[in-house]
Amino acid sequence: ARASALAEAAGPGATKDGHRVPLLANIGGPKDVEAALANGAEGVGLYRTEFLFLDRATPPSDAEQEEAYRKVLEAFPDGRVVVRTLDAGADKPLAFLPPPGEEPNPALGERGLRMVLRHPGVLSAQLRALARASAGTTAKLQVMAPMVTDAADAAFFARECGENGIETPGVMIEVPAAALRARDLASEVAFFSIGTNDLTQYACAADRQIGGLAHLQDPWQPAVLDLVAPAAAAGVPCGVCGEAAGDPALACVLVGLGVTSLSMSAPSLPPVRAALARHTLDQCRDAAAAARTGRTAMQARNNAREHLPGLD
Ligand code: PEP
Ligand code: MG
Repeated sequence: ARASALAEAAGPGATKDGHRVPLLANIGGPKDVEAALANGAEGVGLYRTEFLFLDRATPPSDAEQEEAYRKVLEAFPDGRVVVRTLDAGADKPLAFLPPPGEEPNPALGERGLRMVLRHPGVLSAQLRALARASAGTTAKLQVMAPMVTDAADAAFFARECGENGIETPGVMIEVPAAALRARDLASEVAFFSIGTNDLTQYACAADRQIGGLAHLQDPWQPAVLDLVAPAAAAGVPCGVCGEAAGDPALACVLVGLGVTSLSMSAPSLPPVRAALARHTLDQCRDAAAAARTGRTAMQARNNAREHLPGLD
């Protein structure tokens, strides 16, 4: 019993019947690697690179970027490291990349990939720094774009990656249009990662920065689960890297929907690992189906939990 308790607390992520679900960490830079390793992260599922660019008037030098990326890659010699290209704008304003004009609704404005479409040199410099950092390291580097809307966006990003030495391009699924047409995007890129924070914000039309709308910013909203399902079924590996992945019950539901990896803040890794280890893949699937029959977020959660008896 002690051995199985230990295996539950560390080791790779898997359901009770051995279906593997890599458990990865969300990080903002090399300073977060220690906590990720201490909590048993198998790699990095979301490296938010904008932290490198915050609070400064000019972008970091190519050498500075390369060093920050290499440090993280070297920390996971046998794992994968999923790096998100610059996600500037809206809730992540960057001094050196202001939006082109006054934006009444910044969350619907020029942010993420939309911002670098206007400044392609920023994206290519970042991709080249990543390619140089990865040379000579053994971690599997994957690079994804934020705020991708359609297949044209995905094709643009994949082309930029190819031209700048990045072999595995992916996109975040955080715009409902991208989730609904996930198959179109899947033919352009190698993987997806669902950003449930923004996907929930846009599905429920509830600004994530407005605390009074918290009840609508709930990834248990059945509409959000309905958007995860087509992305997870589109034929490319599909992770989740929003806060939803760190909720033990919801993590089981996401796996039941077909999500192939989960990335979260380091302290969430042990409870999610334990929740998965206590349920079979079939239980996760039953929980997912039951959640989607709910008509409110609360019903979805309650329905799911009836199929997840191992949760506290
Ligand atoms: C998300 O939107 O769910 C996500 C992971 O990205 P961020 O919170 O950095 O926007
Ligand atoms: Mg996001």
